[in-house]
Amino acid sequence: MKIFFCELKKELIRSSLTYLHKWGVGEIFPAPCPIKEKPELGKNFATIRTIRPETRELNTNPLPMEVKFEERKLTNCLCGKGSVYDGPLYSYLLRGQVFTFDISWLTEKPVFITMDYIASFDEAEKRYHLRYATFSFPVIISLPGMIEAPARPREFYIAKGMGIPLHEELREHALTGLDDDRLPRVLAGILLQAWFFYETGDPFCSDPNCSLFNAHWQKDLLRAQRDFPYVLCEAHSKFLKRKK
Ligand SMILES: [Zn+2]
Repeated sequence: MKIFFCELKKELIRSSLTYLHKWGVGEIFPAPCPIKEKPELGKNFATIRTIRPETRELNTNPLPMEVKFEERKLTNCLCGKGSVYDGPLYSYLLRGQVFTFDISWLTEKPVFITMDYIASFDEAEKRYHLRYATFSFPVIISLPGMIEAPARPREFYIAKGMGIPLHEELREHALTGLDDDRLPRVLAGILLQAWFFYETGDPFCSDPNCSLFNAHWQKDLLRAQRDFPYVLCEAHSKFLKRKK
């Protein structure tokens, strides 16, 4: 796998990669952020910003100040500040403008881990939802999305809003932030989903204990992303072993 990421998050990502080495997903090549110092992409990014969750309309005619903001963001590593982007279009943008060199999707399996927020439009609910990943070419993983996309128990929002310290019990059911010590393992499981996406076209599994479980709640994410009772269900474990 070729994993592109921001220098500022290298410790988190490197500790996450130790799990992937242990699980044996083949060679892993860390690579620098592919959009840093590419202010020429400012306008492209401005146009794929979501405007409101309840409309699929995007910011197709950005104001000059919005383009300037995106250019500054790309130059100064301000990812994650303010905007939410359409995830599939984010991936499409990288595919067309950044990964234009001769990349082999299957053997290199490129993944971009970003601090940006990504969302996708839910046709059934007719609204955008934040996501922790977009499984496309390339796969995009959003670090803040891992904390904020899967829903947390209601008590969590109340305690946080009132500035009340979180009980141990609430902590058990949700990631608390980017400094949460469970985050490297959670990220490793999502990278495993990316690996399966490139290998089979399907990143997910219906087994709630398998690391490929598509979690919509934090408690489900934390249950799937631990080594107990296993990292992968029997079928996925066998698939990975066959590939070793
Ligand atoms: Zn599975």
